[in-house]
Amino acid sequence: APGLYLVATPIGNLEDITLRALRVLRSVDRIACEDTRQTAKLLGHFGIRTPTVSYHLHNENARASELIEALRAGGRIAVVSDAGMPGIADPGATIAAEAIAAGIDVFPIPGANAALSALIASGLPSEHFSFHGFLPAKEGQRRSALESLRSAMAHAEEATTHIVYETPHRIVDALADVVAVFGPEKRVTLARELTKLHEEFLRGTASELLAELRSRPSVRGEMVLLLAGESAGGTSETEAATGQSTLAEEVAA
Ligand code: SAM
Repeated sequence: APGLYLVATPIGNLEDITLRALRVLRSVDRIACEDTRQTAKLLGHFGIRTPTVSYHLHNENARASELIEALRAGGRIAVVSDAGMPGIADPGATIAAEAIAAGIDVFPIPGANAALSALIASGLPSEHFSFHGFLPAKEGQRRSALESLRSAMAHAEEATTHIVYETPHRIVDALADVVAVFGPEKRVTLARELTKLHEEFLRGTASELLAELRSRPSVRGEMVLLLAGESAGGTSETEAATGQSTLAEEVAA
């Protein structure tokens, strides 16, 4: 059918592409890519020859109107990012909103996503969660962002696990900030290199993870950091299980 297809691509392991994603990528008129060279590798691997066009942060608006015109004319266009779901810490949301406003059908083609993959294997509650994209790069802004999270947790009705994306060169500083803002006992999980050969989960308190990362000669790879939540009315399951209380955290912080 004509319309805009938001296609998830692998976050490392090429086997995570779906059969439907392959069929859609083969059959659309054009694939709008965050980075055409990156997508060329994926398409090459699967022998897909659909023409590509670049669609990224810097040409998002200009390109969106061009693509909307093609869609209005009855075209079928796929949007992909470098990895995972378009629109999740990646371009995609703008064109989706514009297509919807123009009365064009928008089809999600689900697949890999780093935040949800990390969450389900984190060991932290997954019934309620909140995703925040990348933590701010600058220390002052990162601290304020973490402080807002802390107050969101203090007012939450339900314990909510908080998910953020981090980079290898900032993760140690970010964890040090987590210790400073939430206290050393905060339960956290770091998911590294998901779906890849060196996939790794570090689960423990913020201070344990900080010590572990500091003991390593280097920290590399892609990573997701998850913070256990707490609710205004009490502690999360995880914290209750480890005997950690909201009060103790307030004192520690
Ligand atoms: N659209 C992607 C998604 O659906 O997850 C996210 C794109 S965002 C620009 C890239 C960030 O996602 C990385 O810096 C890292 O925090 C996270 N990420 C992507 N792939 C990952 C992986 N294989 N393992 C762990 N984190 C990953």
